[in-house]
Amino acid sequence: MVQCKKCGEAVPDGKRRCDSCGKMVVLYLPEPLFLMTSLSFAVAYGLIGFFGIGHLYIGKDRKGAVLFVFGVALLTIFLLNISERPDVLLWATSLGFIVWVFSILDVYRLTKRYNKHLALNGAAPW
Ligand SMILES: [Zn+2]
Repeated sequence: MVQCKKCGEAVPDGKRRCDSCGKMVVLYLPEPLFLMTSLSFAVAYGLIGFFGIGHLYIGKDRKGAVLFVFGVALLTIFLLNISERPDVLLWATSLGFIVWVFSILDVYRLTKRYNKHLALNGAAPW
């Protein structure tokens, strides 16, 4: 059982988030393992996952949700135009690629900040 650093509620083992206030809690893994795991998972989810999955994984819910909705919209545009509009396909693909690269870099940057904050303060930064 871990205590939430923000509101003081008890958070059951294995949970990543406080039920009462939503704050991310630190997992009790050996520290270097935790840092490496979270960084590689976040980047891997960003690479292979759908838009926003990496952000959702590291607890950036709003940004993750926006990216996810954007990805679904883009995929819908792509599928609706796949046989008829090569010009629309081209811009949807280009835009999708740019946002995909941006979100990987952003997750990488945020995860490094997350880990640094965690190492210094023993708590998640958001
Ligand atoms: Zn809490």
